[in-house]
Amino acid sequence: MHYLVDYHVHTDNSFDSRAKMMDYCQKAVEIGIKEIVFTEHFDLNSEDAGLGYFNYERYSLEIEECRERFGKKLAIKKGLELGEPHLYLQEHAVFWEDKTFDFFLGSVHFVGDQLLHRDYEDDADEREVYLQYFEEVLATAQKGNFHSLGHLDVLKRYVPRTFKKFKALDYEEVVREILKAVIKRYRGIELNTSGFSQGLGEPLPTLEIIKWYKELGGKIITIGSDAHHLRQLGQDLERGLEIIKDLGFPGICTYTKGEPRIISF
Ligand SMILES: [Zn+2]
Ligand SMILES: [Zn+2]
Repeated sequence: MHYLVDYHVHTDNSFDSRAKMMDYCQKAVEIGIKEIVFTEHFDLNSEDAGLGYFNYERYSLEIEECRERFGKKLAIKKGLELGEPHLYLQEHAVFWEDKTFDFFLGSVHFVGDQLLHRDYEDDADEREVYLQYFEEVLATAQKGNFHSLGHLDVLKRYVPRTFKKFKALDYEEVVREILKAVIKRYRGIELNTSGFSQGLGEPLPTLEIIKWYKELGGKIITIGSDAHHLRQLGQDLERGLEIIKDLGFPGICTYTKGEPRIISF
């Protein structure tokens, strides 16, 4: 059994989850997870449904309560999932100034004022839709302040069924640019296991992209379930870790107050 960590979990401190932090911690201990990071949504796009929802004081209080109860068995860490962090450098810096976090995921949920999860026009140009998305991810990779790039090819989950199955090879050039930017800035990418159970049958990003990342010299990789419900906590972590190990990564990356540490396999 691997050293299990879940670096992507949402509680009811995120606008789109009703799960309780304490319940997750209880379950984490039961299923053998050693570290958990509560990466709540922090989106500043004016169209975002969760704008202004995150309350740091409430969140911190709950973290303290959970640490008191489970801290001996479980490392409980503070994080955020930052939406399009390259667009809000100033706002984020101001927000963090008097606060402590261990880990930031950098994720793209919006292209301009368009949410990825929306209805696409019947005549939407598939290639154009993907390229616009990846350009936004590239900007995040180049300029955003984050530790690990969240669900790199998540758009594949939201596009209409009329689009063909996502193939990384069709977008190899821009995806490689994204990976190079991440590596150059000593950031990491996330293997998000939610794709296994939520209809895609593969992680996010797809295996091909993780292979390219390794080939290009990428070493930092984090793993998370993207749980929004208690039952999703830790889902397919073992499977994801096996993939990472098989691809030749030395271990899984963890963070404490922003300091990375790779836990060897
Ligand atoms: Zn996300
Ligand atoms: Zn998430």
